Amino acid sequence: MRRGTNLGRLGDFNQAVILESIRRAPDGISRVELAGSTGLSPQTISNVVRRLLDDGIVREDRTIVSGPGKPRTVLELEGNRLVSIGIHLDPSVLTFVAMNLRGEVLRERSIDLPNLEVATETIQLMADTVKEMIAEIRIPKKHIVGVGIAVPGPVNVEDGVVLNPPLLDGWADVELVTPLRKLLRLQVIIEKDTIASAVGELWQSKEEKSDDFVFVYCGHGFGAGIVIDGEVHHGSSNNAGEIGHFSTGQKSVSCEECGADDCLAAGTSYEFMAAQAKERGLELPSYEIMGPEQRSEGLNRLTELALEGNTVAKELIVESMVRVGEVAGQLANALDVSEVVFGGPQWDKVRELVSDDVDAAVKRRFGLRGVHELGTRSSTLGSQVGAIGGACVVMDASLSPKATALLLR
Ligand SMILES: [Zn+2]
Repeated sequence: MRRGTNLGRLGDFNQAVILESIRRAPDGISRVELAGSTGLSPQTISNVVRRLLDDGIVREDRTIVSGPGKPRTVLELEGNRLVSIGIHLDPSVLTFVAMNLRGEVLRERSIDLPNLEVATETIQLMADTVKEMIAEIRIPKKHIVGVGIAVPGPVNVEDGVVLNPPLLDGWADVELVTPLRKLLRLQVIIEKDTIASAVGELWQSKEEKSDDFVFVYCGHGFGAGIVIDGEVHHGSSNNAGEIGHFSTGQKSVSCEECGADDCLAAGTSYEFMAAQAKERGLELPSYEIMGPEQRSEGLNRLTELALEGNTVAKELIVESMVRVGEVAGQLANALDVSEVVFGGPQWDKVRELVSDDVDAAVKRRFGLRGVHELGTRSSTLGSQVGAIGGACVVMDASLSPKATALLLR
């Protein structure tokens, strides 16, 4: 939990710290408890709380009785006063959520296997869907803080440009933020999907959870979100967490990009899995031209077969996810985190089949086991994690000025 500072000019930072404390107390929090959790003086708390009450972001109209002594008046978030929209642009599914300040999803929408190749049409589809959702939740537009879009990396966050995601055709150097901002007249932010997912996981965790963890995003590709000391690590270009070409220590095929024969991307590619399946007597869809759409379709078919109980398909899915575990364990070593969290659309589908084997792989690789434990778990945010992450990113940008930003003022 971040603590505030009693230096006057850091007012915005204190507000963010106070809001975070209120947000993490689902049953409300008294001013005295706020002083305890934030380290701020009663005067500072009083000033900030007054501002939040005036803005209608928090309310203070409920008293609760706990133990002896007089009842406490508690501060709570006025949930729907601020709402953000999250979008996740994934090669196989376009997901939307409307989320309030309490982190509750008010509305969700997903469009399976959308035709994403013409970026301008996709951007129009995004704008139309967001407008519909805002109309459906019946919240005035002035209470919508903005739209956060989680996109496959690499991205240029400052310019709002999707650079050249390997699994998304037609999206090389596509401006996403400017056109969407024009269409919606709202603040729009993009973030790499793995980083957004880590923001979502951090934002949504109500009780005290680990401040140091790796979020392993499992979609049609794999990436990591890194959280250290309760802050998401963005990297020098906002593209941190590329693990696609980490060595898994298990030979597969030679990777066209990095040349290694044991990298994660090669060992989890549809091409490799389809060839393995064939060797073991399972025929998967084969394609003359192999593009992102074909890979998605083939992987979906393999996943379906595994879930229906086909032994070969199950083996292949487990082997592929164990490779991810091998990499996650190494990352956990390098960063000395206490937890590895798995999530994303593919994880959501196969977690029951693979989580024990993946856990074992992570722990096998974790060299600090004599020093501290390393836990693994599934994200509670399910297949919406990217979209919720997007919504959290824009909420976070509106409410939580980071300590680093303050230093620049
Ligand atoms: Zn590679």
